[in-house]
Amino acid sequence: MSAANDGAAPAAPAVGMNAAPEWTAGERARLRAAFQAGRLPHALLIHEAPGAGGEWLATWAAQLVLCREPARAPCGACAGCRRVWALQHPDVTWVRAAEDSRQIRIEQVRELAAELALTAHGGGYKVGIVSPADALNRFAANALLKTLEEPPPRTLLVLTATQPSRLPPTVISRCQRLRVRAPTRAEGVAWLTAQRGTGEWGEALDVVGEAPMLLVHVEPREIAEVGLDARRTLEALTEGSTDPVAAAERWARGEALPLRLKCFENWLTDQIRRRTPGAASFTELRPGPYLPAGGVALNIRELFGLLDEVRELRAALDVPLNRGLALEALFRQLARQGTG
Ligand SMILES: [Zn+2]
Repeated sequence: MSAANDGAAPAAPAVGMNAAPEWTAGERARLRAAFQAGRLPHALLIHEAPGAGGEWLATWAAQLVLCREPARAPCGACAGCRRVWALQHPDVTWVRAAEDSRQIRIEQVRELAAELALTAHGGGYKVGIVSPADALNRFAANALLKTLEEPPPRTLLVLTATQPSRLPPTVISRCQRLRVRAPTRAEGVAWLTAQRGTGEWGEALDVVGEAPMLLVHVEPREIAEVGLDARRTLEALTEGSTDPVAAAERWARGEALPLRLKCFENWLTDQIRRRTPGAASFTELRPGPYLPAGGVALNIRELFGLLDEVRELRAALDVPLNRGLALEALFRQLARQGTG
């Protein structure tokens, strides 16, 4: 594998290959049919719910075109499939955001274009995977457009994005869109059990939501601990007993940030539910005209505002932004509300 991603995190797919996520079955069938009919598009844009398996499907698509058993591609067992999975296939290039800037820069896209222009080592396809494509900065996206407009023959470009609307329409219009929806809880539990064996996956999914890919390298017990720690921080913030700046720094630094933000979301949901007598379930709650008037309503409105912002931050975790500052602003609001 070549890697046009200097300074970026090691390019490792998040999951094991042995169990295909059931909720991607439709998209896999479409891709396989197109490939076997010789009309696979040269560019795919996988629009995924966060943690639902966009990179898994991108890897699967690379195996589809590089498998040595075309009749049953991807077989998952041949040298081609195994190399793709192990990130060691010389004809697959991963492009990822640099860790410092959280962006994909123009130099990385140029390296990718140069790599795709070379003859494939295996004499077949060359594959470029840009993940997440919503981390492409403006210049990089423009550079990618050139490759999308005039792709070398036998090229497959796969872009993943949780927020494709951040991409220029010119890029989007040149890709075939695929959708990876969020799995149901039952689908998530079944897949995690197949990957990792029996465990408290249902409880763990309650913490992270419908994002089983976030759990594949984590122990369910660790998730419970992160959940407890997050709850303590949030309560300390509302009591004014912890410093929002220090807390934001600690959260932004750790790898558990996606988990912690999910806990934040759950915690806010819980607070809203408690302040809304008679609400059977949160899914029935909406901000706006349904809320009671007066001071309590203002409080709930602020909580809903925070909830929206936490959700936005979670969805934007892959794109460039100062996470520490964004968190600090949220924590300050929470501290103000808690003591106000
Ligand atoms: Zn194979």
